[in-house]
Amino acid sequence: MYDYCSPKQIKPGGWLLKQLEIEAHGLAGNLDKIWPDVRESAWIGGDKEGWERVPYWLDGFIPLAFLLDDEDMKQRARRYVSAIAGFQQEDGWICPCSPEKRKSYDIWSWFLIAKVFALYCEYTDDKMIESALYRTVKCMYEMAQKGELSLFSWGKFRWYECFIPLTFLYEKYPENWILELGVILKQQGADYSDYCELWKRPLNHWKLETHIVNIAMMLKAEAVSCHLLGDACTDRAEYFWQLLERYNGTAVGVFTGDECLSGIGNNHGTELCSVVELMYSCEILYGITGNDIWLERLEKMAFNALPASMSDDMWTHQYDQQVNQISCMRFPGKSFFRTNSGESHLFGLEPNFGCCTANHGQGWPKLAMSIFQKKENSIQVTMMLPCELHTKIQEADVTVRIDTQYPFRHSGTFTVMAEQPTEFELKFRIPKWAKKVYINGRETENCGYYSICKVWNGTESIPVEFEDTPHFVTRPYDLFTVEYGPLVFALPLDFACHRHEYEKDGVERKFPYCDYELERKGEWRFGFSGEKLEVSKAQGDEIPFSSKHPSVSIKASFQRIAWDYADGYETVAEKYPESNVPLSEPQEMVMIPYGCAKLRMTEMPRV
Ligand SMILES: [Zn+2]
Repeated sequence: MYDYCSPKQIKPGGWLLKQLEIEAHGLAGNLDKIWPDVRESAWIGGDKEGWERVPYWLDGFIPLAFLLDDEDMKQRARRYVSAIAGFQQEDGWICPCSPEKRKSYDIWSWFLIAKVFALYCEYTDDKMIESALYRTVKCMYEMAQKGELSLFSWGKFRWYECFIPLTFLYEKYPENWILELGVILKQQGADYSDYCELWKRPLNHWKLETHIVNIAMMLKAEAVSCHLLGDACTDRAEYFWQLLERYNGTAVGVFTGDECLSGIGNNHGTELCSVVELMYSCEILYGITGNDIWLERLEKMAFNALPASMSDDMWTHQYDQQVNQISCMRFPGKSFFRTNSGESHLFGLEPNFGCCTANHGQGWPKLAMSIFQKKENSIQVTMMLPCELHTKIQEADVTVRIDTQYPFRHSGTFTVMAEQPTEFELKFRIPKWAKKVYINGRETENCGYYSICKVWNGTESIPVEFEDTPHFVTRPYDLFTVEYGPLVFALPLDFACHRHEYEKDGVERKFPYCDYELERKGEWRFGFSGEKLEVSKAQGDEIPFSSKHPSVSIKASFQRIAWDYADGYETVAEKYPESNVPLSEPQEMVMIPYGCAKLRMTEMPRV
């Protein structure tokens, strides 16, 4: 079985490095300076939120700081982690809550801070933090033994998150109490098999059982618990996935949930937290099962849904994104979203609620951490992304570098550097969509993986190319999307951007972390006309998913059709048009990657 390489051995390059730098200069890289719930959190002795926000933020900020090897960021991460550990009680309890309030404290954040400490130890081998982690998890066990540990609300629905730190600890300390604690959490935690009937029909009220972020996290529950406890795995994640996709799937590989599962429909929202948590679940599921279906799914959401919800500078984000998003203007009356406020689709500091503000930062760094895997004498590349691995095989220093603009281009070069003759296997995954594969210039069958096993010596480069043609993909309601490689394309709509700077509940929104409403200018009611899909490549700019200068686009022909607004709303498109009878002559327009198009039509009929 392959394990992910130590994150310390990974050095992102190319556009991925640029994306991480943008994140570091944006919201996720600066929350400790500008956002009271992180800056003055109760976790570090302040009087603001002392629950999920600081751990959520650190879960992305720590890998970001270390992947960029940024001394200032690493020090800020260290300051937070040390301060939190500094408040640890004698008995190991670590959350900011007085002894008499422990009973009513929802321990979801306890699982989360334990996960963050494990992540920090992976990067630093910090023995003090490792000991704090050991003692706090032991405290959890001792409370459980005494019947004092109560799982309710979020803790009950997110019990499996604690298996990440439990697994980390058990590898270092193979002690039986860790497994016992795992058994107790699994027994007391929610079993989602009991609720999956509810996922077939959207509800207009808020429920933990259909909560999109719970469900996104939960997909890994069986895998992580069976992996640690040695129980038989029934591939529950695949069963759940099929069910969710059928009743709530979107064109960009995630599920609708605003904030609970919302059913099939390109105008429903998808919460940003659910995108990054789904990505993480796919990364863990691939790590445990080795089934590459999880990587196919991961790529689709990472290259489409993730960038779509963030502004180019990553200073603002949406709570909810829509696949057909014709406006991001606050709803004047009742919100269109089932259980979220009427500002959930604005780009801002904390539209609707601040969870995504704290949590979105884990998306890109954890993707970078998932590129390389290793077992004895084999290195496996899960995704062709610009990155370097520095590792040792049989005492020899080995570097694998990937130079590529994938997914904006479909080719790349793998360069292997071995300081002395060393025998090992280099294996890389070929995406399922690749219709033709060329390795070293020779056409090769797409068998899912390509393997080169030999004695490597010095530097050797292997050019790789995957070929695809842009094509239509069918969607519900007789609609279509356009895909090319792992990218989904959308017709971008022009808009005017309205900036709002203000203060609410003592939290300042001020440029660059203010709110933006996007007001559409012009027509949006189109259908695809004809078969023509013509790819065009451009230089792009400094921003990988640039909304202004995308590096790849597709020219297609469109005709006007009759398409109404959703009942009662002037800024939301109905899920499907009134008719697909053309009302205008065909006109050529340019589609750009979904992640680049902030207002867009993605699912359209063919006239
Ligand atoms: Zn959220």
